[in-house]
Amino acid sequence: TVSFTACSTVSGADLDVPLVDGRSVRYANFDYAASAPALEAVTDAVRNLLPYYASVHRGAGYASRVSTQAYENARNAVGEFVNARDADVVVFTRNTTDSLNLLARCVPGDTVVLDIEHHATLLPWHGRRVVSAADTIDETCQRLVAELWSKPAALLAVTGASNVTGEVLPLARLARIAHECGARICVDAAQLAPHRSIDIADLGVDYVAFSGHKLYAPFGAGVLVGNRDWLDAADPYLAGGGAVSNVRVDETVWACAPARHEGGTPNVLGAVALAAACTALGTLDSSGHETALTELLKDGLAAVPGVSFLRIFDDVEDSVGIVSFTVDGYEPGHVAAYLSAEHGIGVRDGRFCAHPLLAKLGVPDGAVRASIGLGTSSEDVERLVGAVSALVGGVSTWNYARTDGYWNP
Ligand code: PMP
Repeated sequence: TVSFTACSTVSGADLDVPLVDGRSVRYANFDYAASAPALEAVTDAVRNLLPYYASVHRGAGYASRVSTQAYENARNAVGEFVNARDADVVVFTRNTTDSLNLLARCVPGDTVVLDIEHHATLLPWHGRRVVSAADTIDETCQRLVAELWSKPAALLAVTGASNVTGEVLPLARLARIAHECGARICVDAAQLAPHRSIDIADLGVDYVAFSGHKLYAPFGAGVLVGNRDWLDAADPYLAGGGAVSNVRVDETVWACAPARHEGGTPNVLGAVALAAACTALGTLDSSGHETALTELLKDGLAAVPGVSFLRIFDDVEDSVGIVSFTVDGYEPGHVAAYLSAEHGIGVRDGRFCAHPLLAKLGVPDGAVRASIGLGTSSEDVERLVGAVSALVGGVSTWNYARTDGYWNP
């Protein structure tokens, strides 16, 4: 049995959900990689700020000053979470996608990306060059070096942990290689940040992006942290109030980052919530808990006939609690609908916004993804393994069909 005291800090851990036969069961959430339920520390931080609901950086009233202070404290807390350096700036955005699109507008040259990326890291760049991760990421990364030397790039953009397989990339090595080739490196940490501490100074990472909603905070807030020079040199992301230091009808003097790229009234509650999650996660060491549960899940599923795992690299140095698999003879949507309807288990199915990777792994029609988080227990894992085993064993008596784009019993 694997237990972890921090589980009780996750809201929604005792949710009851209806089954197709009319019963209800405790929800087993295996979809943390999509969005993770809020930590109690996060809901507390939001509740504490709500009485001071006021616009930041604009009002002289007391509530406005409290909100402004909370917003700037949140910025500092995020910086501490990733060990930001003096030259770095923390910009609040809507989510990881927004952060990477912002950075894409600031890159002074080509960006090299891997073919395993989530679309948020794959798509935003002007002057984008895609290389095969399987061919380039190894002990020496010689092919990557050759690519970066053959035609200089300004940026290498990589995921910290794959949202499909959970495999963690060798970030320190990639940062060193990028720098040796005259490029900077940006890490999409949407899936890494919820599971590992990220020290960008120690890793040598220039930019990091992640989302609050995958970090046990609500939707609508994300961050981009990194060297301010590119951000200060680029056009404002959103032109408008807050992004300027002075405006005349015929001349605009833009502010420096972060204000330069935070035009309009910011999402103060989202930023405070995200920062509260960073602070709470910074005090937890959940990796042992998650590693043990991930092993339990993999071992259990590996014993079920017809189950195959998705995997990018032959040698994986580290991985987070994300397990994607297929079940012979069953479409992924069918498996996911069955787990929900008959067992109250929430997984994700599909192509996980990483279509090129799924095609490369030979499963262009998708797979099932089970992801583990702070609220996951060994009982949940046993339920999931037992349910997949029962499906393969022919226990399910319901017929499943795709209606309105979804699989339903
Ligand atoms: N990168 C990765 C690795 C992700 O898993 C996700 C979310 N699925 C994103 C980027 C995009 O995050 P968001 O939808 O919050 O912008």
